[in-house]
Amino acid sequence: MTNTPASISTRKHQPHCVDKLREVAKQNSQRAFIARGANAERCPCCLMASFACFCDQRTLQTSPVNFTLLFHYTEIHKPTNSGRLIADLFPEQTKAFIWSRTTPDDELLNHLDNFKGRNIILFPDTEKRIELNKDLERPSSLETPINVIILDATWRLASKMLHQSRWLDDIPTFAISDDAQRSFKVRHAKHDNQFATAEVVAMLLAQANAETQSAALANYYRVFNDHSMWSRKRRDTPT
Ligand SMILES: [Zn+2]
Repeated sequence: MTNTPASISTRKHQPHCVDKLREVAKQNSQRAFIARGANAERCPCCLMASFACFCDQRTLQTSPVNFTLLFHYTEIHKPTNSGRLIADLFPEQTKAFIWSRTTPDDELLNHLDNFKGRNIILFPDTEKRIELNKDLERPSSLETPINVIILDATWRLASKMLHQSRWLDDIPTFAISDDAQRSFKVRHAKHDNQFATAEVVAMLLAQANAETQSAALANYYRVFNDHSMWSRKRRDTPT
């Protein structure tokens, strides 16, 4: 771990899909979006205060599955958002879009069409989905090149995104099993909070027998979490 502050003028990594989407969202925003701590000097890649930059911890991985991140528009600018960590580690296999209830992006619909029959939505079982018979016990094989759709928002918003989007109705939902959650907690999550998006994806990777990538994402999330706290509290060293 290095304590060398990053200069805001130099990027340590090429912008990926989430970085580009954030820029477009910023430009399209009608009102200036002031993220918490927006005045602090931030690293343009990892969005931490420059003294808490953790860009040197980013190691590119290859995932056996593809990811499509659907951001609620309030989430894309948050430095605390963990969905972007997926694009950090798997930039070649990740696409990102802003969610729309009624008018999803054409590029998004084409992308989903390319994976027709191989799309799944990573989401806990809900009564409505079970009623629709759209919950999957387990995808026939998580190792075939499937596309995992991730609704990146708070729990309440993500649920709204899923249930209000008619264009997602035909895509099955896949929930991480209680056993897999328990096993992940023993190995990686030393907290009782709700799992973060990056952690849920790490669990999915473990279920797809991609243990190396799963551990890489779980560890990267832990580093991100420590550095987020450090960035906010202005501590001398991460906790
Ligand atoms: Zn950084």
